[in-house]
Amino acid sequence: MPILGELERAASAEVTATSPASVRISLTDRCDLACVYCRPSRSDGYLDDRLDEPALHTLIEGLLLAGVRRLRFTGGEPLLSPHVVGAVARAAELGAEDIALTTNGTRLTKLARPLRAAGLKRLTLSLDSLDPLRFERITRGGKLERVLDGLAEARAVGFDEIKLNTVVLRGENDDELERITLFAWKHGLVPRFIEVMPIAEGARIVAERLVPAAEILERLAPWLSAARPAVDPERGPAKYVASRHDPKLRVGVITGTTDTFCKGCDRLRVSATGVLRPCLATDRGVGAATAARAGDPALIARTVAEAWKLKPDGDVWRGCTEPTAGDVSMRAIGG
Ligand code: SAM
Repeated sequence: MPILGELERAASAEVTATSPASVRISLTDRCDLACVYCRPSRSDGYLDDRLDEPALHTLIEGLLLAGVRRLRFTGGEPLLSPHVVGAVARAAELGAEDIALTTNGTRLTKLARPLRAAGLKRLTLSLDSLDPLRFERITRGGKLERVLDGLAEARAVGFDEIKLNTVVLRGENDDELERITLFAWKHGLVPRFIEVMPIAEGARIVAERLVPAAEILERLAPWLSAARPAVDPERGPAKYVASRHDPKLRVGVITGTTDTFCKGCDRLRVSATGVLRPCLATDRGVGAATAARAGDPALIARTVAEAWKLKPDGDVWRGCTEPTAGDVSMRAIGG
């Protein structure tokens, strides 16, 4: 039974009109991998003023009071946060419509079951290669077997949906498009291929490594229907094309570089330090940590509206291709 009553929801209706429907919360900037397009090395330093558990719960309450309906937990690596299961449970208890999480999967064998029990509905697993050596190289030391064991556990637990995210890097993993697609389809997962974006470390490699989504789809064409790629309403910027052989099977592409999708973006991000950020590609944001630590969800709801006013105009803003994007930390903001 949701704790936020109808009256409170009605009271927040005014805020809802000017606030985001979807929020990504970075639970921690820490990560046990260091993907080449995300971090310069494994020792690039961590923040020390992350929100503690009570503050995080207040933050979640404030977001829902502001009219947010969909929450995604991310990071850094969200499964490294000791608060991850509690945060999902709190969001579920408060009646969040959709609760999802993006992970590198290294801790899923232990955490998939408690997360599902806490109310997690959907999972996105980042998986850039099915080749152990290549996986290790891209992630700077990650063990593919461990991630695949985590994935097997998540499948056994049975989430509403599991998606795979693969950042495609020319000359590195772009020969695996078909292999990853067939692997995903075989296991009931939705494969999604992401253009490397000129954000954080990606800014240094994008010119050499980018494989445009149009090329990705062209290479997968023998497997795909001829329909135009289309977004799922209220499910972010990915565009999907169905399999030529089975309309239930799909491939998604995310075009953060060749076609930024800022217009109509209904997304807000919360950094691991409690800053509300209306766009991944700039450091602009409004602090909500003080309100969260003071246990004041109503103030957080008002801060959401304030942060939302900073949302760049999608008509002229070029998202992750703006020069500011190279300076942000994907880990801290929440990718
Ligand atoms: N640690 C979790 C994970 O690995 O999924 C969550 C955080 S990670 C920053 C979220 C997603 O951002 C991953 O799918 C990752 O591949 C993607 N990502 C990070 N940097 C990127 C970049 N420069 N271009 C495209 N995608 C990027």
